[in-house]
Amino acid sequence: MMIPFNRPYLSGKEKEYLTKSIELGKTSGNGYFTRKCHTFFKQHYGFNHCFLTTSCTDALEMASILIDCGPDDEIIVPSYTFTSTANPFVMRGAKVVFADSSANHPNVDAKQLKKLITPKTKAIVVVHYAGMSCDMDAIMHLADQHGLYVIEDAAQAIDSFFKGRPLGGIGHLGAFSFHETKNIISGEGGMLVVNDERFKQRAEVIWEKGTNRAAFFRGEVDKYNWVDIGSSFLPSEITAAFLFAQLENLTSIQDKRKKIWQQYYKTLLPLSRQGYFNFVEPESYATCNGHLFALVCRSLAERDRLLTYLKQHGIYAVFHYQSLHQSPFYRGKHDGRGLPNADRFSDCLIRLPLFFELTDNEYNYITEMIGEFYD
Ligand SMILES: *Cc1c(COP(=O)(O)O)cnc(C)c1O
Repeated sequence: MMIPFNRPYLSGKEKEYLTKSIELGKTSGNGYFTRKCHTFFKQHYGFNHCFLTTSCTDALEMASILIDCGPDDEIIVPSYTFTSTANPFVMRGAKVVFADSSANHPNVDAKQLKKLITPKTKAIVVVHYAGMSCDMDAIMHLADQHGLYVIEDAAQAIDSFFKGRPLGGIGHLGAFSFHETKNIISGEGGMLVVNDERFKQRAEVIWEKGTNRAAFFRGEVDKYNWVDIGSSFLPSEITAAFLFAQLENLTSIQDKRKKIWQQYYKTLLPLSRQGYFNFVEPESYATCNGHLFALVCRSLAERDRLLTYLKQHGIYAVFHYQSLHQSPFYRGKHDGRGLPNADRFSDCLIRLPLFFELTDNEYNYITEMIGEFYD
């Protein structure tokens, strides 16, 4: 028996909608299915200004352009995250100031952010790791006090909430991913959510390669022009059609993933109580969207032994995120501060297989093998 780390889930409607998008005769972006996806997000989460993109990375690049990020700016970014959280700001010449994780959660430690703020700070980028919210009250309050933008990297955070508010809808801007490894997928894909009205009009222009084409099609201008910078951020209708088939099944996908997450938690709780590992679990103000289930082992050596043991038994668990401040690309540019919590999650965290089609048999086998390892 071989259990993969991820098995992309298909709702069954994808092919039908792909065919429909082709039959509609418009496969470029911002058509029928793109609008259907935007409407879905508006109805479900109150996201008034959505822009499907080709990836979350692209959505964050749009955010970077929108805040006029440049060489004079400093952007506070967690170190324990994927490169895409930082790249869009570095690409525009900004200095990235890395923030450490909390001691008990990979999310950024909101209490440690204040001392990273300088007169050059322009924005704080937060990642809701595992789809579990950061302390958004503290972060929004701090940003308010210092006149900073907050950008939510909500790549993992679809259908998850902070005190009842949907993640991605709290900061000035929010970015989602529909990459094949996320809960809702379109192969590659993403979305920018504009929460601050000031960005709405310009976001549309940047999305349309720097033109006012959208305003032209609405009849607001009599010809369309190059009016700003922009890029090819729009996904094709083919991508949007695939995505819509997934969105229609969001509730069942989420229910299943959350159920698996709870099952892991319950079954592994005794081992956790014995001190073998800790869980990555949501704070009281946050929900869990079943994006990923992670254990934090006691040491790097033990984590690697567990990974190897599981692999020998046909289970593909993985670790991830080498702290960005230690990366070959950025360590020379980092200011030298140690970020011990981020490093500890790099060394000790392990993600277990979690996907829609994980069967009870597979699941039972995984937890049994973990128990056997600690025996
Ligand atoms: C997956 C992920 C991204 C990148 O998403 P893409 O859609 O592949 O660009 C960025 N940030 C985080 C935290 C992610 O998990």
